[in-house]
Amino acid sequence: MPKYVYDFEEGNKDMKALLGGKGANLAEMTNLGLPVPPGFTVTTEACRAYLRSGSFPPGLWEEILEHLGRLEARMGKRLGAVDDPLLVSVRSGAMYSMPGMMDTVLNLGLNDESVLGLARQSGDPRFAYDAYRRFIAMFGRIVLGVDGEKIREVQARFKGKRGLDPAPEKAEDLVAVTASDMQALCGELRVLVEEETGRPFPQDPQEQLRLAVEAVFRSWNNRRAVEYRRIYRIPDDLGTAVNVVAMVFGNLGEDSGTGVAFTRDPATGAKGVYGDYLPNAQGEDVVAGIRNPIPLSELERRNPEVYRQLLQVMEILERHYRDMCDIEFTVERGKLYMLQTRVGKRTAAAAIKIAVDMVAEGLITKEEAVQRIDPDQLDQLLHPQFDPNVEVKVLATGVNASPGAAVGKVVLDADTAAELGKRGEKVILVRWETTPDDLHGMVAAQGILTSHGGKTSHAAVVARGMGKPAVCGAEAIRIDLENRLFRVNETVVREGEVISIDGTLGRVVLGEVPLVPPKPTPELNTILSWADEIRRLGVRANADTPEDARKAREFGAEGIGLARTEHMFLGERLPIVQRMILASSEEEEAAALKELLEVQRQDFLGLFQAMDGLPVTIRLLDPPLHEFLPSSKELELEILRLEQAGADPQLVAEKKKMLRAVEGLEEANPMLGMRGCRLGIMKPGIYLMQVRAIMEAAIEHHMAGGNPVVEIMIPLVAIDEELRLLRREAEEVIEEVFREKGARIPYKIGTMIEVPRAALTAGKIAQVAEFFSFGTNDLTQTTFGFSRDDIEGKFLPRYMDRKILSDNPFETLDTEGVGRLIRIAVEEGRATRPDLKVGICGEHGGDPRSVEFLHHAGLDYVSCSPYRVPLARLAAARAVLGAREEASK
Ligand code: PEP
Ligand code: MG
Repeated sequence: MPKYVYDFEEGNKDMKALLGGKGANLAEMTNLGLPVPPGFTVTTEACRAYLRSGSFPPGLWEEILEHLGRLEARMGKRLGAVDDPLLVSVRSGAMYSMPGMMDTVLNLGLNDESVLGLARQSGDPRFAYDAYRRFIAMFGRIVLGVDGEKIREVQARFKGKRGLDPAPEKAEDLVAVTASDMQALCGELRVLVEEETGRPFPQDPQEQLRLAVEAVFRSWNNRRAVEYRRIYRIPDDLGTAVNVVAMVFGNLGEDSGTGVAFTRDPATGAKGVYGDYLPNAQGEDVVAGIRNPIPLSELERRNPEVYRQLLQVMEILERHYRDMCDIEFTVERGKLYMLQTRVGKRTAAAAIKIAVDMVAEGLITKEEAVQRIDPDQLDQLLHPQFDPNVEVKVLATGVNASPGAAVGKVVLDADTAAELGKRGEKVILVRWETTPDDLHGMVAAQGILTSHGGKTSHAAVVARGMGKPAVCGAEAIRIDLENRLFRVNETVVREGEVISIDGTLGRVVLGEVPLVPPKPTPELNTILSWADEIRRLGVRANADTPEDARKAREFGAEGIGLARTEHMFLGERLPIVQRMILASSEEEEAAALKELLEVQRQDFLGLFQAMDGLPVTIRLLDPPLHEFLPSSKELELEILRLEQAGADPQLVAEKKKMLRAVEGLEEANPMLGMRGCRLGIMKPGIYLMQVRAIMEAAIEHHMAGGNPVVEIMIPLVAIDEELRLLRREAEEVIEEVFREKGARIPYKIGTMIEVPRAALTAGKIAQVAEFFSFGTNDLTQTTFGFSRDDIEGKFLPRYMDRKILSDNPFETLDTEGVGRLIRIAVEEGRATRPDLKVGICGEHGGDPRSVEFLHHAGLDYVSCSPYRVPLARLAAARAVLGAREEASK
């Protein structure tokens, strides 16, 4: 039989899988000699066994009783004893932190008799009945399944009868209720529980304990927890541990209290402790937000000795964990107790600052610093901010709880936010406070605004974790749910109106504020320079304009991996392109191509200048030509309208000509049609014009003293012969340009690998390609046979829900299928041409998990959008460090 229960003295911080994060860290703190109330942990293994069979595995209950016996002996009290009862909390705690998602029961062991003992022993009957009242409510809701709303109703009604504020949202605020009234309220709550469950409230403390442990086990599978695991990709089969801890009370008067603290600021990473404290309160009060907490500095004033102890504990924890920790603590009549610690969640900006500072402090190495930054989280830092050049009129201010700015329509509940979000609308979720039940709405929102709570509130913690801007505790905002609006003084903002929030400075503005992209901070550049020392993969950017290229270079791109030339064919250029497509003679086509040549030369010159000295991979035109013309439906309608209005016959004739051209170009499956190299073969003029423009621009830049590094890329090749032919034609033009200009420069011609046949015949294709770049958007499309433009809105969500696929293959590379093709192509391509350069320019080049695979597949570089370049640099370094760690195991 496995050992199912561990005293805190028996565990340590590395036992998270078995004891959960909370249990493992309580054990670690106990062994560090920090003031932790005694207790024990029931393992995740016991939970898994319970969830499998629906009952305690053999021996578990006996083991719990044995550890309870030891706990009682140490405390010199018995659970729920009449004279001086031991009370315990029963707390969930899984391997990965899932804040607030699972259940916890406090004050367990109270019953009609032991409450008298607690009253006597504490000398405070009101406190004792308040504890019992909380216990009945919590146990009723969590363990016995009584609807929480009904409990609130009873409390609100009770308050009304006593002449107190009966508002349901104030139901938990019982500060003004006297001891005897509290006792009466306990009675009413017990009646409610009995009515709802059909049996009396359990009075036997051991039965309470058993039921509570089971309830915490079951809470692993409640809706919130399941949803949270889905979002954060936490496996469903881990289970939670259960911690049974001797109760300490923060609500025993003004010399007691409860708080949360961080060893450094979780929003900015600044040194110095940071936290909130609620005097004379129990832990749940902080979460329930009945009163706003006070800053820790206030604790220093009120109780300097406790504050000094707290600082000392935090110092010990930080040195021991070599990381920023967050803690929960309680002060009982002037004595400090630690209830939890863990390595604290933080914003990307804070993560970076803390890592860089800790290297300077000698606490961690550069490699550890790089490994501590989650590349996905970096995205956050690259979040937009309010445009500083625009003056804004601030409607309300609040706590700057999670940085970045967002604009969206006001939405007052999570379900609506989720629904609008699904339709692609940008929304700001505005709540009094958020709870774990709001999670789906928070995921869908651009940003979060609350009128209550601080930097440690649920909204703040979750928003920071998600990298979403949040302004919390904007107290001027009065939400009126009934009328679906909020008020700030005289201003009324209705649901659906647009607001802007700035989570960096805590500002709320009515209407849309223009946003600008941020600049990398010096600390980010430090981390990235360390990453650059470690990584092997090169990082380039996908950029089509000189501005994008400059931005990419600023972010550390080492060249352009993909310049899509089709974007250069739009806007004011479109009429020329249309003339070229519709030309009825060779001369007409040649004239249009000549016009395009002039503008394209400038386009390419701009790119070579911006990326001087670094490779610029220019892809010849890829999309089917009909994308540059209106659809046949649009044209038919337009012709009809023109004819009805008696328009100029010349104009109508032109439109008809266009319609015939469109009809000639339309295909049943355009993605599999005349595009990429097929277009180059069918309409050679376009590619030859582009090749000429590229080389003329390159020579111009070269003659001006620049250093163009030219790579010409041909898309959608499936057959080596396609590339051979196009290469020959391109080389003829290039030689012509060299002769005309009297200068030569080096260049490379390569291809994209975007269809399975290209990957499978890479050995032959490499005979005529100097480089490969995996176009994994198309390669994923053609490998799965999934339309890249459709599946996200059609069957993919269902596929993910039903776990047919665990990831969106257009976001995270499918290593099994598409990845296999990549490995084959790299291996066979290099067998033909050992110095073949291999990169990727599909979206996966900026996805951290895909980057790791691509490192192992032996690519030379990844190319991604400019804003993802920092993230790719970091991911590439982490791939190296991850592999080193594996090898050393
Ligand atoms: C690709 O297919 O992965 C690619 C980069 O090309 P595009 O997205 O332009 O088709
Ligand atoms: Mg493609």
